[in-house]
Amino acid sequence: MNIHEYQAKALLKGYGAPVAEGVAVLKVEEAEAAAKSLPGPLYVVKSQIHAGGRGKGKFKELSPEAKGGVRLAKSIDEVVAHAKEMLGNTLVTAQTGEAGKQVNRLYIEDGADIARELYCSLLVDRSVGRVAFVVSTEGGMDIEAVAHDTPEKIQTIAIDPEAGVTAADVAAISKALALEGAAAADAKSLFPALYKAFNEKDMALLEVNPLIVMKDGHLRVLDAKMSFDGNALFRHDDVRTLRDETEEDAKEIEASKWDLAYVALDGNIGCMVNGAGLAMATMDIIKLYGKEPANFCDVGGGAGKEKVAAAFKIITADPKVEGILVNIFGGIMKCDVIAEGVIAAVKEVGLKVPLVVRLEGTNVELGKKILNESGLAITAADDLDDAAKKIVAAING
Ligand code: GDP
Ligand code: MG
Repeated sequence: MNIHEYQAKALLKGYGAPVAEGVAVLKVEEAEAAAKSLPGPLYVVKSQIHAGGRGKGKFKELSPEAKGGVRLAKSIDEVVAHAKEMLGNTLVTAQTGEAGKQVNRLYIEDGADIARELYCSLLVDRSVGRVAFVVSTEGGMDIEAVAHDTPEKIQTIAIDPEAGVTAADVAAISKALALEGAAAADAKSLFPALYKAFNEKDMALLEVNPLIVMKDGHLRVLDAKMSFDGNALFRHDDVRTLRDETEEDAKEIEASKWDLAYVALDGNIGCMVNGAGLAMATMDIIKLYGKEPANFCDVGGGAGKEKVAAAFKIITADPKVEGILVNIFGGIMKCDVIAEGVIAAVKEVGLKVPLVVRLEGTNVELGKKILNESGLAITAADDLDDAAKKIVAAING
């Protein structure tokens, strides 16, 4: 689960991290009062969407010369003018895809005088089984290019979970970021605070880009992107209340209600599977036969008919889906339950694309019989290979 920048900053402020004063607004009429409550004379008006690259983004409704999704303002009037242009319009960034995202909230912040823009993120580094700081002196809006062209400018410092962030770790991070003076002093509290927040709130990613050194020499968290481990959300009531469903894919929200693992991809074959291993194998074999999966929905072990039907509906709701492959191994899951769920869903939403079903395992004969007698245009497959060939052939016409 992701949250907005202003929410992430409020959370970090609670851990003592240096963030600017700011006010989130939903309406243009609120912008003036928000700006007046800040010290000035420099303000920043920031689009709050769950995607990065806002600074370089473009608004669909505005001319290409218009400013992007993060704008500096030197007066309260200018803040209001920006708010009018931005609120309700669609911001397209490198991360939103072509459709862009509607800006429904702005964060109006006290502006900082920047001396240097740095990059600092925390993530779970699976290669060492630890939370790691990933840092670079080359922070700001071009970090992707840095990662691509000069990866040696990005350094990773993994933290021993027993010891936490030690003085030696802080020194290593500070050295990697070339921090001196007041910034180096601030680092002593900031990096342990970021690590503490990351662990206590079960984050999956905390990205501060940029972390800035201000002209006065101090550090400030200028941007913050935070995502949380969905499996741990049950123990963070405070984090769950920050959820903004308008920012999320409707299909993913529906999937999470049913406790389904749904992942949207770029191809055009929808996949209903059970178990992550079978999901991977199914996607591999689709690729082997020259197509790409549009998504996969893992119904897990003991799903009932309603859950299977919900999964099927989520898969078919994606307009990119030109064909569906159901590939289920019935262990705990029974093949007849799958068959009934698929039929129930097809009867409700219709079947506009080819459907290939491969069932194996518990009650497989009963499952196949139910499908065969349904009167629906379902192609049965014998094994994984057969299933992939059949769905690819059906799509290719
Ligand atoms: P992103 O483009 O979505 O990553 O949005 P950021 O919050 O990172 O802002 C983009 C850029 O706007 C930053 O890299 C800064 O260069 C600039 N910016 C943001 N806030 C301020 C500020 O307070 N003062 C100044 N001078 N520039 C800022
Ligand atoms: Mg940023």
